[in-house]
Amino acid sequence: MTVHDAPPVVPVSAEMRYAKVRAATDHTTVGLVTTTGDGRVTIACACGMELTNGPTWTLDEHIRLHRAEARFLALAAVAPPGIPRLVTWDVAPQDAAR
Ligand SMILES: [Zn+2]
Repeated sequence: MTVHDAPPVVPVSAEMRYAKVRAATDHTTVGLVTTTGDGRVTIACACGMELTNGPTWTLDEHIRLHRAEARFLALAAVAPPGIPRLVTWDVAPQDAAR
């Protein structure tokens, strides 16, 4: 076997790249911002969750946090085993990503 026969080394696996793209597309905002009767502003996410502002956070902060959590869960579910983690959980990663 020569160096040219070895599988190419990629910095990020295809699974992790796909997970990141899937998280981005699964969590795009849908429609327009609406104002509720109590004065909150909301927008739907493609995943079905309603994103909204609150007493101590803005709508934009909720959108950013939601997307970051989705991206984290998707990447953590497919990351190669053994990588030291900042966040650990008791449930299986594949269950957490759903
Ligand atoms: Zn979402």
